[in-house]
Amino acid sequence: MKICRFGNDRLGLVDGSDVLDVTAALDLLPPTQYPLPNYDLLVAHLSELFPVLDQLRLTAQRQPLSGVRLLSPVANPGKIIAAPVNYVKHLEEVLADPTLHHNNHINHIERAGLFLKATSSLVGMSAGVSFNQSERRTDHEVELVVVIGKTCKNVERRDALSCVAGYCVGLDMTIRGPEERSMRKSPDSYTVLGPWLLTTDELPDPGNLKLTLQVNGETRQSSNTSQLILDVEALIEFASRFYTLQPGDLIFTGTPEGVGPVHVGDKVHAFIEGIGELDVEIIEDVKWV
Ligand code: MN
Repeated sequence: MKICRFGNDRLGLVDGSDVLDVTAALDLLPPTQYPLPNYDLLVAHLSELFPVLDQLRLTAQRQPLSGVRLLSPVANPGKIIAAPVNYVKHLEEVLADPTLHHNNHINHIERAGLFLKATSSLVGMSAGVSFNQSERRTDHEVELVVVIGKTCKNVERRDALSCVAGYCVGLDMTIRGPEERSMRKSPDSYTVLGPWLLTTDELPDPGNLKLTLQVNGETRQSSNTSQLILDVEALIEFASRFYTLQPGDLIFTGTPEGVGPVHVGDKVHAFIEGIGELDVEIIEDVKWV
């Protein structure tokens, strides 16, 4: 299934070039009260909702996908985990260019570990990326994103993929500079997720997927998830030794070589084989409050 969120917090199933409105399924989620759970309620109950979604699909209102605003397919991830330098050729390009590493400690990922991006930085592709500091260099990073499907801890490799709800295309937008990654990669809108959540029944193996990124039609990044240093299973093993993983938690798996700057007005197109594509515009700084 391709599950999307669109418009005014509607829930949709993507069917070809259409979206089917299945928002009624949200009524079946358990009622919540303060304090709210620190995981995503929809992803936590997704497998129970599959039969309901299949039923709703038969009579759902249908509209062209091209006419809707796509939101982040996961509304409330408890955490956004991300892998630094997880493709060999990206590690080499970072080490070769001082403007990329700013004397930050660049290590093999097993030494560098993972980092967290603020959940408040998350948007869907229709929101665009609003430039935080126009005088600073901001780069694009296309990444395969894993959406965790169940609560798990100390996961072993052979069980790792059973903890996954699905996959998305992600952009880990990054201000270059000397600050901690968590600061440079967490301004509002610097985490883009979409276009939908593709459930694992439609993508059993995330380990051999082409991924590309273009800016204004020019190809900047082109690689394959087979080039990951730590693959999806290894990232889940690694992350779950430190954090209890919860439904809706996101793991940005790292970006391949070819990162580069974007500017206001640029149109970014990101693609991952089998999942889908994102079209994201770089826009002027927006006041978010
Ligand atoms: Mn990244």
